[in-house]
Amino acid sequence: MRGKKGGAACGDRVEIKLTTSGQGVIETILPRSTLLYRSDAYREKLIAANVTQMIIVVAAVPSFSEELINRCLAAAENQRIRALIILNKGDLIEPTRTAAASLSLYRELGYPLLQISAKTSAAPLLPYLKGQLSVMVGQSGMGKSTLINALIPEAERATAGISIALDTGRHTTTHARLFHLDESTCIIDSPGMQEFGLRHIDGEDLAWEFIEFRPYIGRCKFNDCRHADEPGCALAEAAHDGKISRRRFNFYHKLATLSGTIS
Ligand code: GDP
Ligand code: ZN
Repeated sequence: MRGKKGGAACGDRVEIKLTTSGQGVIETILPRSTLLYRSDAYREKLIAANVTQMIIVVAAVPSFSEELINRCLAAAENQRIRALIILNKGDLIEPTRTAAASLSLYRELGYPLLQISAKTSAAPLLPYLKGQLSVMVGQSGMGKSTLINALIPEAERATAGISIALDTGRHTTTHARLFHLDESTCIIDSPGMQEFGLRHIDGEDLAWEFIEFRPYIGRCKFNDCRHADEPGCALAEAAHDGKISRRRFNFYHKLATLSGTIS
């Protein structure tokens, strides 16, 4: 199957027509409950449909990008997808302790933070997967393949699950693959995919995707406040008073600047 703009994405439910050669042709893409985009310098492409949970895999070694976490969380919030952060390589005790301390911010925001060692056992993750269509994301080197191998039975892996080619617009093609753990549990693995596109989210909506900002939205002095450096900005005051994290507020600014909300 090929996922072009307007075409099918991994996780789509489709109606197919069987051809005489025993292959299937997609006739209809059924309505999607959620939709995630892949970020691209020029365009945004569909990456996964109907996902109910995003699993963000990080590890202390080599080192992870907090920007990537924030970007993933904003994409998940935008689609009302629950998000879970996995701190892998927990067997590397000292570096993991430091990483866990810096990730505690996300736990305080309400995102589950699960420390595991994919090399030892992926079992602690299983209860979180049950009944969900999860998409697993992470920078390379974080142990995503190790985790997928530990979770997915060999037989399913050998047939590569259900694969969909994502046209990246460059010379490379990445394959997002959907694996079935059981009847109601699936995982989409998307090698090479690190970033979700957020450019389809505009202005006020972008601030809304930072969950801890929500109580302050609508309280700024000016109705059209872009939360940059306007006087009486409730979000800037909250950041100043330590009620929201300065790191997250700075990242919001960076994203808003990229999307043209703030110039
Ligand atoms: P990916 O690029 O995210 O798919 O990462 P890989 O699964 O290829 O893992 C990258 C490196 O980290 C490999 O050398 C793995 O053996 C190692 N690795 C993966 N999981 C763990 C873990 O739980 N503990 C430790 N110490 N190393 C791990
Ligand atoms: Zn404001």
